[in-house]
Amino acid sequence: MNSKKVSNIHPDHPRYESLQLRARMVEAYKAGILAESGLIAHGRGEAFDYLIGEKTTTTAIKAIETAAAALILADHPVISVNGNTAALVSREIVLLTGKLDAKLEINLFYRTPERVKIIEKVLKDAGAEEVLGTEAENPVFIKGLEGPRSQSSREGVYKADVVLVPLEDGDRAEALVSQEKLVITVDLNPLSRTSKTASITIVDNLVRVIPKLIDEVDRLKKLEDTDLQNIVKNFDNQQNIKDSLKLVAQAYTGKK
Ligand code: ATP
Ligand code: MG
Repeated sequence: MNSKKVSNIHPDHPRYESLQLRARMVEAYKAGILAESGLIAHGRGEAFDYLIGEKTTTTAIKAIETAAAALILADHPVISVNGNTAALVSREIVLLTGKLDAKLEINLFYRTPERVKIIEKVLKDAGAEEVLGTEAENPVFIKGLEGPRSQSSREGVYKADVVLVPLEDGDRAEALVSQEKLVITVDLNPLSRTSKTASITIVDNLVRVIPKLIDEVDRLKKLEDTDLQNIVKNFDNQQNIKDSLKLVAQAYTGKK
């Protein structure tokens, strides 16, 4: 995980990890990486994380395995980065990009040239050699969307067959799916439009997902394409979302 520890929270505190992350997001906001709404989105995520017990569930593991298989099989894999992703897992995302020979693209809901520049620097400092989606490019517009959210990079999301878009908004996820792209999202809310629309939904916290996804890519890279194709074919996203919801109910009632 990125960044330093926040000193005034004692490691024995029961909400230590969560409070660390929250403090890191406040720092990211002050540094101009996050828009105000990024903080609110994080808060929504915290609530759902509480419900799944702040751990990676068996259904999330299944989705992570499928995501790794789809990314390895992709001809043009792209990882889309927003403010929350840059604040939480920039180093891990850059590492994953390298392992997949993928493209890295900045896509912001509340896009300003300043924030794009700041996030580009965060990614470059984390080791990224190439960052797409910057102000230097002439963007291509995605059908069905308006405003800055409709922008995509010609060599990035526009060309991609598989896109990893953590914390994407519902409209954009829908537009990408309708362009015949395989869309992988990470979203703690199993009922968000993004979760329901994506091809592969990982219901888990981004900070836990990306390191696990890196491990899965390392493990599955050794398999034949047909084995990877079978993993993707046998995955039922709607069923997996239902199973994720069942786990939440079970945690509450104790019933299986
Ligand atoms: P919809 O997908 O229904 O359009 P939305 O995308 O507009 O909803 P937001 O609150 O903007 O909703 O998006 C933030 C989403 O990201 C929430 O569903 C929240 O649970 C999720 N989220 C926030 N932080 C994290 C995180 N660290 N890891 C995974 N998911 C997160
Ligand atoms: Mg969403």
